[in-house]
Amino acid sequence: MGKIGIMGGTFNPIHIGHLLLAQYALEENDLDEIWLIPTGCSYMKQDCSVMNADERHYMTKLAVSEHPKMRCMDIEIKREGYTYTFETLEQLRLLYPGDEFYFVFGADCLFSIENWKEPQKIFDSCTIIAAFRSGSSMDEMEKKKAALVTAFHAKIILMPFLRIEISSTAIRERLKEGKSIRYMVPDAVLRYIEEKNLYRLPNED
Ligand code: ATP
Ligand code: MG
Repeated sequence: MGKIGIMGGTFNPIHIGHLLLAQYALEENDLDEIWLIPTGCSYMKQDCSVMNADERHYMTKLAVSEHPKMRCMDIEIKREGYTYTFETLEQLRLLYPGDEFYFVFGADCLFSIENWKEPQKIFDSCTIIAAFRSGSSMDEMEKKKAALVTAFHAKIILMPFLRIEISSTAIRERLKEGKSIRYMVPDAVLRYIEEKNLYRLPNED
């Protein structure tokens, strides 16, 4: 039986905040592997026009290709319509019945998860690992955790994490302004973004 971390995200594009979060989650929780799953048509972002799913998936794959314990999966981008986390977890449990799943996310998601589709099903099918992220305090996170445990019998692990003030939004903005994003994303991803001239146009995020 494996302990598998799942990290969903738009990864538009993937950056070192995502990768360090994955690495910390692996080590702090003794996970066997962590699977990064780029969203197809993100329901939370209410936007089907986010950068082409194939590009986001390809960059995510590039970012983890040399890590022995990280994989990038295309199950959400292959699904038609909006992608819902509860469906992804159901699908994974059917495909890998022997494994135990840990859904890893940043603090922002701890505060929004109740508004995701079918939160009870999400909490029933995995343990949540919520990492500190600038913008919320550990104190607030403790309170939110207690409320979710009471309301949903959720299993939640709060994970201290580095304060990394990087977001994909900030990266897209820098690119639009013609600034460098070197060291904010892995070199292979940087090269790909430059080659394809991604995120340079106003309507391209
Ligand atoms: P955007 O600005 O487009 O929303 P993002 O940087 O927030 O992008 P997402 O793809 O929305 O990235 O997030 C995927 C997951 O990674 C979420 O669980 C989010 O909380 C987490 N995450 C992203 N950046 C950080 C960071 N700097 N520190 C901690 N967690 C992060
Ligand atoms: Mg985000």
